[in-house]
Amino acid sequence: MYDLLIRQAKIPDGSLTDIAIHSGKIAAIGSLDSSVTANRILDLHGKVFVSAGWIDSHVHCYIKSPIYHDEPDLVGIASGVTTVIDAGSTGANDVDDFYQQTRQAKTNVFVFLNIARTGIVTQNELADMAQIDKVGVRDAIARNPGFIIGIKARMSSSVVGQNGIKPLVVAKEIQQENAGLPLMVHIGNNPPDLDEIADLLTSGDIITHCYNGKPNRILSPEGVLRGSIKRALSRGVLLDVGHGSASFSFEVAELAIQQGITPHTISSDIYCRNRINGPVHSLAAVMSKFFTVGMSLEQVIDCVTCNAADALHLRSKGRLEVGADADLTLFELQHAPKVFLDSEGFSVTGEHHLVPLAAVVAGVTLFTDEGRSNDVFKC
Ligand SMILES: [Zn+2]
Repeated sequence: MYDLLIRQAKIPDGSLTDIAIHSGKIAAIGSLDSSVTANRILDLHGKVFVSAGWIDSHVHCYIKSPIYHDEPDLVGIASGVTTVIDAGSTGANDVDDFYQQTRQAKTNVFVFLNIARTGIVTQNELADMAQIDKVGVRDAIARNPGFIIGIKARMSSSVVGQNGIKPLVVAKEIQQENAGLPLMVHIGNNPPDLDEIADLLTSGDIITHCYNGKPNRILSPEGVLRGSIKRALSRGVLLDVGHGSASFSFEVAELAIQQGITPHTISSDIYCRNRINGPVHSLAAVMSKFFTVGMSLEQVIDCVTCNAADALHLRSKGRLEVGADADLTLFELQHAPKVFLDSEGFSVTGEHHLVPLAAVVAGVTLFTDEGRSNDVFKC
């Protein structure tokens, strides 16, 4: 007897499958015999898509953060996202408190620890090199194993002040001293110049805000991918969207994707203000924008499931397979015109968009507002 049996779920390639869940894990998948039973059966009649649970690699959800704050479940399960990674809101000073705060959340929460001990309390946390305390970072990681999954360095002029590339050099040392944890690097206005940043990055490092429209962008003024980024990608450096209020340009994304430069991970950089007022709104909205620049449903879903799990070393997540965590996202692809805004104020009309209906976290089903009013679940 399973805990939950989902019948006739449509997976992103369009085929149908059954999924059985037991003790928070996927216990069986495929075409299951009609005699198979469970405490709870959800028959989707082939009308609802199911993927591994969506992972948002870049959010801000430390409620006590003065500038960029939100609640984990409002950026998570309320919009079908089963796992969020807070990208540097906290440093060594506050990460223990953040951990305690997240114990009540239904959404899985992990963090990239800001290399500055204050996190993003001010906008310029790396302007004083004394804020980067290697011992403090090491001890915070030791105190929070499994919660801190990587480190974050924000490498743009307003953050680093006069320090240029120096904080990134220290970030790479910290990474080496801590078992090669994933490193996420925010890019924006220079200095430091993007070429200087890219040349320091190695396999598995993540560049977030990859399609920002600022002058220090990944494309040359002629719209061609910079040589430094090309070399970084060939070394295994990863591109993350990190949409945010100021870091996503349709023009840059479209030109890059035309050259084959698709994102490894699609993330929102969501917090309360850009969730409520836009232009982010939700991970689903950010994902839907990528249909307008030529990506397929399967490509978009991979960016928030298997690609994200691989980039973040979340080995039990991101795939629909026996033994994996029973984290799932149930969603519809609605075919209707919808206007999307980027961070530069440009709008594009999409032909279809994603509507999350439910998040299943460790086998527990949590409906979104759209899911609660959906007829599929009413029988
Ligand atoms: Zn951010």
